[in-house]
Amino acid sequence: MKAHDGMYIDGDWRPAVGPDTIAVVNPADEQVIGQVPAGTAEDVDAAVRAARAALPGWAATPPAERAARIAALRDVLAARREEIAETVTAELGSPLGFSQMVHAGVPIAVAGSYAELAASYSFEEKTGNSTVLLEPVGVVGAITPWNYPLHQIVAKVAPALAAGCTVVLKPAEDTPLTAQLFAEAVHEAGVPAGVFNLVTGLGPVAGQALAEHEGVDLVSFTGSTAVGRQIGATAGAAVKRVALELGGKSANVILPSADLAKAVNVGVANVMSNSGQTCSAWTRMLVHRDQYDEAVALAATAAAKYVAGDPHNQASRLGPVVNAKQHSRVRGYIAKGIEEGARVVAGGPDSPHERGYYVTPTVFADVTPSMTIAQEEIFGPVLSILPYEDEDDALRIANGTVYGLAGAVWAADAEEAVAFARRMDTGQVDINGGRFNPLAPFGGYKQSGVGRELGTHGLAEYLQTKSLQF
Ligand code: NAP
Ligand code: MG
Repeated sequence: MKAHDGMYIDGDWRPAVGPDTIAVVNPADEQVIGQVPAGTAEDVDAAVRAARAALPGWAATPPAERAARIAALRDVLAARREEIAETVTAELGSPLGFSQMVHAGVPIAVAGSYAELAASYSFEEKTGNSTVLLEPVGVVGAITPWNYPLHQIVAKVAPALAAGCTVVLKPAEDTPLTAQLFAEAVHEAGVPAGVFNLVTGLGPVAGQALAEHEGVDLVSFTGSTAVGRQIGATAGAAVKRVALELGGKSANVILPSADLAKAVNVGVANVMSNSGQTCSAWTRMLVHRDQYDEAVALAATAAAKYVAGDPHNQASRLGPVVNAKQHSRVRGYIAKGIEEGARVVAGGPDSPHERGYYVTPTVFADVTPSMTIAQEEIFGPVLSILPYEDEDDALRIANGTVYGLAGAVWAADAEEAVAFARRMDTGQVDINGGRFNPLAPFGGYKQSGVGRELGTHGLAEYLQTKSLQF
């Protein structure tokens, strides 16, 4: 894999200040595939200065011209789609077909949506005797995770650029090559120098320096709740805006009138995709007591079809998890589930291969709402199936975690499912297998986060209002 040995700052690749590097590892075979510089507070400072200097010019650029640059960015991403997919597969380990369709395809769609929004959005409103100007928030510090490496970058950078903000990105240490490829695409798209800047590095060093930097006006973070809480506190102390997209423990509620086989099969696919490393995954399946045994048998059969193996082999439906730490963490949760009395009906804690960070797709039955595996985000291919007595019981279980990011409801007709969805404390609900919509606001209730990404709601996060009275 091609890796840059510098930081993308002020429109150029420039050497890092310090000598340290980060080894990028392919999780499928544990081989080092590249080295990127580990940024320091000084690199972050240089990047923030460049973003600050570029802000007045970019903020004053007509929205139609900003839209044209984002459209060009979308076109470059589309032209380099294959390279994006190969890079994500190499550093994340997702099967190549999934990388092409989702890891490359979704960011292209999201960039396209912001090219259109930037051109059509009204950055001015009238109310009574006032004109309200919607102005860019300023310099954005974006901190992203590894699980959807390009999507999470584009979901921050595209709306920020559309709003007229400038950006410094600190991507996850596990997936910096995708971030470098994105910086190349920004450059190729003709985005002016300093509008977008990239500093690779470690979270507690470069990430923390970015979150704390006084030249940053908004910190937009996606990742774990533990780090999100810390970043929220830092931003609060500095009276700085913050957006947090954190973890989830979403419920897939199958009402008795639903097509059980379809709901179970789609539910299993949802959890296994991306090796379970999806913050909005429906990791708890809720089934009526009378249909429980049938659902468990269906889920065990479905999960067994997710053969874990080489992401370049078309027969592999599941890749490894991202790194050694996640590998032991996920298997630790499986062991914990067994210890607390849940019943393994597919998979288990043993790795299916000697090399690579593979986890066997695992399904637990007889899970009770208070078990660790029903409460904590596992971030691996692990599904828990819980029985419920009636709808109120299902709702109590569905809402009974600290999280509220996503969910699903299945019923014979949409109205019945919607009535249940209205009572759920969560930011997104898919009704009878509804498709992903890149324009729908995405974000959490409760400890799943603060703020929304995507569509017009995502754009609004990067704007602040100024009211003029006449
Ligand atoms: P994480 O530590 O929260 O990482 C997210 C991003 O924050 C990365 O860029 C990380 O850098 C950075 N970071 C870490 N510590 C920081 C700090 N003190 N200040 C500023 N930035 C910091 O998540 P993780 O360690 O990769 O994964 C741990 C768990 O988080 C997973 O098992 C999963 O449960 C959850 N997670 C959730 C999501 C989601 O989409 N909601 C995504 C990823 C992970 P480094 O890459 O150098 O750590
Ligand atoms: Mg980390």
